[in-house]
Amino acid sequence: MSGTTVLVAGASIAGLALAHWLRRRGAEVTVVERAPGLRPGGQAVDARGVTKEVIRRMGLDAAVRAACTDTAGAYTVDVDGNVLETYRADDDGGDGYISDIEILRGDFSRVLYDDTRDGVEYLFGDRIAELTQETDGVDVVFAGGDRRRFDLVIGADGLHSALRGMVFGPREQFLRHLGLVLAFYSVPNEFEVDRWLIDYQDPETGRSAGLRPVGDPARVMAMLSFPAAEFDVDHRDVDAQKALLRERMAGLGWETPRILAHLDDTPDFYLDQVAQVVMDRWSSGRVGLLGDAAFSSSPMSGQGTGLALVGAYLLAGELAAAGWDPETGFAGYERRMRAFVEANQEIGRVHVDSLAATGPDAGSSGEPAPEPDMEALMALADRAINGIELPDYAGVPDSGATAGHVGTGRP
Ligand SMILES: Cc1cc2nc3c(=O)[nH]c(=O)nc-3n(C[C@H](O)[C@H](O)[C@H](O)COP(=O)(O)OP(=O)(O)OC[C@H]3O[C@@H](n4cnc5c(N)ncnc54)[C@H](O)[C@@H]3O)c2cc1C
Repeated sequence: MSGTTVLVAGASIAGLALAHWLRRRGAEVTVVERAPGLRPGGQAVDARGVTKEVIRRMGLDAAVRAACTDTAGAYTVDVDGNVLETYRADDDGGDGYISDIEILRGDFSRVLYDDTRDGVEYLFGDRIAELTQETDGVDVVFAGGDRRRFDLVIGADGLHSALRGMVFGPREQFLRHLGLVLAFYSVPNEFEVDRWLIDYQDPETGRSAGLRPVGDPARVMAMLSFPAAEFDVDHRDVDAQKALLRERMAGLGWETPRILAHLDDTPDFYLDQVAQVVMDRWSSGRVGLLGDAAFSSSPMSGQGTGLALVGAYLLAGELAAAGWDPETGFAGYERRMRAFVEANQEIGRVHVDSLAATGPDAGSSGEPAPEPDMEALMALADRAINGIELPDYAGVPDSGATAGHVGTGRP
């Protein structure tokens, strides 16, 4: 029993997965989440390659598969809805564009929360207001007024991480906007979507609209994107985000007007810039970062969840293997993760560039876009999906996976 106390900021994929592994390695874990409860929403997230192995080691394979979207594949359409290309979920051994483990982000959070709720202290509706590092601990003042001391503090508070801002500096230093904005929200299934995702891209403007099944035949998830060289809408101002989306998607064909007509009655809405986080270090003293806060690869990589899960496994494993010494533990985590993160960030950039090649800036140099080097792309995709070793941490304390049930309780 180490008795090491760890505070995790953020109860989404990264924070919840880290809570699982820290608890298993013997730490006492507190998770503070700014929202009043688990945040629903978001589109489907995919688990490929090594990420599936982490889910298996968590003992959550059955629970995750039970909550999957059951998407059969995807097809692209032209403005009149004629099918252009088809991708099946079992392509590439289930690790392709639509992977065979595909789960709504909100449902995945629920599985992870239900798995950890009994052994972890959750503080919803609060956040870290102040933090002071001492040689033997971190003093934290919560916005709700509590003052507590922890051995370690981990920021898993997303792309716009407040903890990163407090400890490492303003986000402008680390955020790389990739020139696209994405929005996701659920709408009634008046489009007769079945088990196939449909994607429409407008080559003239670089904008796209899509619909995907969510496992509930009555509803579908709308996915919209548009190019934007700048993005300065506050990430918490939903009204401004909806106004921006309406303005920038105006005039796009296919089913876009009917999708936009549901902007005001959707129960969930997510819009953010497509951005990456690039940092030289993911730790400072007793404070570390995980997930999008540390190394967002952007939704265009399709691997944000994978990085968060693999990172959570390694961060807890390395800290525990180092006897909870922050310097050694954080160094091991960074050493193991860095190349994997870089490969996934490259995938995100390549994907955005491929869209830009069909958008309004296409051909601005007067040169045709170069043919992609498919062999190099396949090698990169393999590094991004499988290119990291997962030590088994034999000899490091492990209380084992729980039953991995999907409960019904709400926070
Ligand atoms: C509501 C929502 C919808 C999303 N939808 C999509 C999507 O459709 N497609 C996609 O590719 N990615 C989406 N993402 C991002 C995706 O979840 C991440 O890329 C990936 O899973 C890694 O997750 P993360 O835990 O590092 O960060 P995130 O999932 O962004 O989670 C960060 C968590 O920290 C909380 N938080 C923020 N600030 C504080 C604070 N100061 N104190 C305490 N808690 C704080 C947030 O409320 C959130 O729960 C979404 C994220 C959220 C929160």
